[in-house]
Amino acid sequence: MGAEAGRLVVISGPSGAGKTSVCKALKTDPRVTFSVSATTRPRRDGEVDGIDYRFLTPDEFDAAEARGEFLESATYNGNRYGTLRGPMDEALADGRVFVLEIEVQGTRQLRFGNVPGTYVFVVPPSMEILHERLVKRGQNAPEEIEARLAIAREELGASDLYDHVVENVELDATIARVRELCGLVPTEA
Ligand code: 5GP
Repeated sequence: MGAEAGRLVVISGPSGAGKTSVCKALKTDPRVTFSVSATTRPRRDGEVDGIDYRFLTPDEFDAAEARGEFLESATYNGNRYGTLRGPMDEALADGRVFVLEIEVQGTRQLRFGNVPGTYVFVVPPSMEILHERLVKRGQNAPEEIEARLAIAREELGASDLYDHVVENVELDATIARVRELCGLVPTEA
């Protein structure tokens, strides 16, 4: 008999909604493999090439795209991002839960391509709270925060693309809910 097929989980949400914290928690699950996206955006302090992202030049990104290496790709705030097909195919063939943390344009491509999976949208309780969280996080300059808020307003209109919308009021509860939706309830010891 063949191995059990893996499953795809797509997690999106406006920058600052808490999806990265949710994903960090899911990463501790031994059943899960995370997609390492390619991007042309500059590396932030503490980020490691090959772990957080594959950091590519725009030319390298274009070449990978021309070779058909991306399952989906998008331009976000002036930078390119894309999911590499190779690692996903391997993980799914191994029966793993493969998690993509991507933005809305990429999700739209997957939906239009009828890519099966569980699609989860993590949203903030309000735009005010999102603004506060982005400022507190201290990762983005004020202009970039404004740009991310403008993108967030647009993204929040795309919730229909998702199977589940989870409002992140309290992080532990959000993580528990996403685990449940993805069929990743911790197994009893
Ligand atoms: P950041 O620059 O903050 O790491 O990511 C910016 C946005 O790009 C986030 O919403 C993140 O989820 C999204 N993103 C990261 N990798 C990919 C990808 O491979 N494809 C798409 N479509 N979006 C991505």
